[in-house]
Amino acid sequence: MKKFLWVLLLLLAGCVSSVSEEPQLNPVKGTYRFVEETEGNLSLVDDALRFSLYDKFISELRLSRDPHYYYRSITLLVNKKIGLPVDFVPKDLIKTSVALSPSSSFTSIRRDVNNALTVMFDAALEDGYQLRFHSGYRSYSAQKRIYENYAQKFGKAQADVFSAKAGHSEHQTGLAIDITSPSSTGLFAVDFGDSNEGMWVAKHAHIFGFIIRYPKDKNEITGYIYEPWHIRYVGIPLATQLYESGLVMEELDN
Ligand SMILES: [Zn+2]
Repeated sequence: MKKFLWVLLLLLAGCVSSVSEEPQLNPVKGTYRFVEETEGNLSLVDDALRFSLYDKFISELRLSRDPHYYYRSITLLVNKKIGLPVDFVPKDLIKTSVALSPSSSFTSIRRDVNNALTVMFDAALEDGYQLRFHSGYRSYSAQKRIYENYAQKFGKAQADVFSAKAGHSEHQTGLAIDITSPSSTGLFAVDFGDSNEGMWVAKHAHIFGFIIRYPKDKNEITGYIYEPWHIRYVGIPLATQLYESGLVMEELDN
């Protein structure tokens, strides 16, 4: 099985050969989990996908029809080393229906993520905390512009600490959101983590399937500074596992 997937992976490599320098092809990490996890999380996947998951996933036909199938895994690992194809766009993007920050941009997100986010924002509000959606899905080319602007302004080394090169941003998966709150001093502020809203998110996000992707003491492993505002949807089982173990995605065995 494992060997078979690697062979498919090699075949797939041809599909993204237009991406020369980066991103690298994502080694199927997460894909095993995708199959396992969707079994236990059927409410989180499309009906069509639910009924055709196993056989079609393993078939060459399926892969040839949708070379990006892998990248739709909700547990997909994307980081500075493992990237996404230049032309990967999630198929189920919608405009978010949750409350936006005043300067929000890139307000699309995958449908299931929007559902989970709605439940989480509502739960926060019930506890007295207002959360706001600032930024969700960003295309490869949007990320390219953003990174290049930062690199020009601060130099590449500095930009790398807080921004991702194109193809290496979790925002391209449609599974990551930058959030804020009306009481936070600003966007992308570390003090969001110390605010009541930020603390609520850190404590409860896993219940809704989200993780704080770049925790305080893991910057050497993730490559990113502490980003209490950047949450990533991975589904409830993995979010709970990560929350309880204190591990980040890079530390998991696949
Ligand atoms: Zn982010």
